[in-house]
Amino acid sequence: MTATILNGSKFRDEIQSELLLQVTDLKREGITPGLAAVLVGEDPGSQIYVRNKVKACEALGLFSEKIVRSKDSTTEELLELVNDLNHNDKIDGILVQLPLPPQVDTKRILMAVDPAKDVDGFHPVNVGNLVAGRAGFVPCTPAGIMEILKRSKIPIKGERAVVIGRSDIVGKPVAMLLLHEHATVTICHSRTRDLPAVAREADILVAAIGKPTFVTGDFIKPGATVIDVGMNRLSSEEEVRKLFHDPTAPLATLQRRGEVLVGDVQPEDARAIAGAFTPVPGGVGLLTIIMLMSNTIKAARTRRVVSA
Ligand code: NAP
Repeated sequence: MTATILNGSKFRDEIQSELLLQVTDLKREGITPGLAAVLVGEDPGSQIYVRNKVKACEALGLFSEKIVRSKDSTTEELLELVNDLNHNDKIDGILVQLPLPPQVDTKRILMAVDPAKDVDGFHPVNVGNLVAGRAGFVPCTPAGIMEILKRSKIPIKGERAVVIGRSDIVGKPVAMLLLHEHATVTICHSRTRDLPAVAREADILVAAIGKPTFVTGDFIKPGATVIDVGMNRLSSEEEVRKLFHDPTAPLATLQRRGEVLVGDVQPEDARAIAGAFTPVPGGVGLLTIIMLMSNTIKAARTRRVVSA
């Protein structure tokens, strides 16, 4: 069997076109959705993420404001900033790029974001809404996974879904979304006994672990849909040779770029055994920012359109 590759860029482009129409409608009513991206410190990864989020706003014609604060910022200073943004009417969505520096109380900052502007879906009010199946903001990566499944017409109702990973950002919310779509859901983690056997029960297997190629062929039921959320960077030739059966292509990437982006799933095994598979790169990761845009547009509509 050769798995169907679920191409993230195709779904991202589809969603982008749909969002463009929504933005046009909002602008006709005099509303330009706005996103504030708060970047604290100089972490290179965070800088790239924020830059890409601002670019995505520009591509859709959204207003965006990038706010950079020093790595020495205190919790109180950031609380004041969030409070200002909560009261700024041009801003519909507030994104605080994580991780924050260690002296900052991240939970307090995320709790301070107005739930109506919490486009990352991290505020407990939105977590509660998600659990209760009520309207609110769903975290972007899990929302992107559901878009991939639905747009690929992968059956969910009545299917066995296994999610490996129980983080607040990916594992728990995606499990909840699958449950709302009537999958029978099992959540696994580092203490799960006989993980490959549990994973092999899955019609839909979601890997959100953070360990390169952890999910090998013995985890995958033939024909299953495998969603690889992992984003792991390999920089040594030895590691690449160890993790790939045929390391030719990844070794070439390593030589060209100095690193190889690898998921949590062994891609050669997934291609051979799964029915459908999201590749890394080129899968789930491409949906996250467009879902942030979708949440920002939804926030603008909910806050500013009286009839929404
Ligand atoms: P996380 O907070 O570190 O959570 C990892 C989860 O994996 C934990 O629940 C942990 O279990 C579980 N785990 C670790 N080792 C395990 C093992 N040996 N067996 C079974 N379970 C194990 O990670 P995360 O934030 O959810 O991210 C997971 C991956 O997705 C990372 O590679 C990250 O880079 C990627 N990611 C991608 C996107 C995107 O595509 N846009 C977004 C977010 C994250 P315990 O709870 O028991 O420790």
